[in-house]
Amino acid sequence: MSNQRSTADTAVSDYAPIPESSFGPALNEQGYAVGRVERNLYWVTDGVYQAAFLTTQDGVVLFDAPPSIGHNIQRAIDEIAQANGVSNRVAYLVHTHHHADHGGASSLFGTDVVRIGHEETRRLLLRDDDPARPAPEETFSDRRTMEIGGERFELAWHGPNHTPDNSVIHFPDHDALMMVDIVNAGWVPVYVVNLSDDIPGYLGMPATALTYPWKSLISGHLGRLGTRADVQLHQRYMSDLEASARNALDTVDPTPYFTAGGANVWAGVKGYLNAVGDATAAPVMERYTGVLAAADVFTPDVGFWLMESIRLNHGYGLPVHP
Ligand SMILES: [Zn+2]
Repeated sequence: MSNQRSTADTAVSDYAPIPESSFGPALNEQGYAVGRVERNLYWVTDGVYQAAFLTTQDGVVLFDAPPSIGHNIQRAIDEIAQANGVSNRVAYLVHTHHHADHGGASSLFGTDVVRIGHEETRRLLLRDDDPARPAPEETFSDRRTMEIGGERFELAWHGPNHTPDNSVIHFPDHDALMMVDIVNAGWVPVYVVNLSDDIPGYLGMPATALTYPWKSLISGHLGRLGTRADVQLHQRYMSDLEASARNALDTVDPTPYFTAGGANVWAGVKGYLNAVGDATAAPVMERYTGVLAAADVFTPDVGFWLMESIRLNHGYGLPVHP
C-alpha cells in the first residue's frame, strides 16, 4: 500500500467495485436526473436521494422533498411542466415520514402548499419544530385514498418500521409504489438496519410491498428505480443475514471474552457481541459482494444490529439461568 495515498482514498479503493446495474441515469449539469415513472408520474434523483411528483389538473403533487435535491426539485418540475404544457405549481406535498433528510426542503414550497402525512408524522414534526419542515395539516391514520386533480393514490401505514410513521404510497393507475428507507434498489441497507427504529417492523415491509400490484418502486434512495426483483433480492440478503446471525449466536463461545473482561463486564459484553457480529457478517458479505452494491461497506453494521434485534426482540441466544 503506497504511503502517498490519503487514508480516505485507501479506504474507498479497498472496497469492491460497485456493480454497473446499481447505478441509474447520468445527472445533468445542475446535479439531478428527472424521469417518467409512468404517464404523469415522475421521479427525480441526485444520485443518493429520490422524490416523486404527479402533474394534475389542480397543480403538482410532490412526494417528499429531500434537502439534498433542494431547489433542483422545482427545476425538475419546471422542465417536465414546460415540456408537457401543464402547471408547474406545487399545490400538495405528501410526506412518507418525518425525517429531515427526506423532508427538509418542504419550506421551499411556501405556506400555500397543502401538506399531507400520517398523524404520527404530524406529531413528530410538531415535536421537532423545524421551520424547514412544517407539520402536515391533512393527516391519515391507517389508510386514505386521495383524489387530486383527477388522479388517485393511496396512503397506507402498516405499523412502525424504519420510523414510527413511515408509510407507503401506492399509485394504482401508474403501476408504482413509493416505499422509502426500506429497500435500497441494487444496494445494501446502511447503519443500524437502515436506521430502523423498529427492526422487526422493518423486516416485514418488503413482503407488505409485494402484496401491492406495481412495476416501479420509488425507494427514496440511490440513483435508479427499483423492481420487484430488487425487493426479492433484498429479502434474500436479509434472510441470509438472519440465518447467519442465528448460527453465530449458536456457535461463538462467550467464555474467553468474559474471562478476558473480568470485573469489567461491559468489556466482556463488547468483545463477545462484536465477535458474534463479525461471524454474522463474514459469510453474507462474501456471498453478496458484486451482487448488491457496498455489501462489504455496510454488512458488518447491518449484521450486528440485526443480530441484536434477534437477541432482544426474539430472545434468541438468551437462555434462562438454570
Ligand atoms: Zn428516514
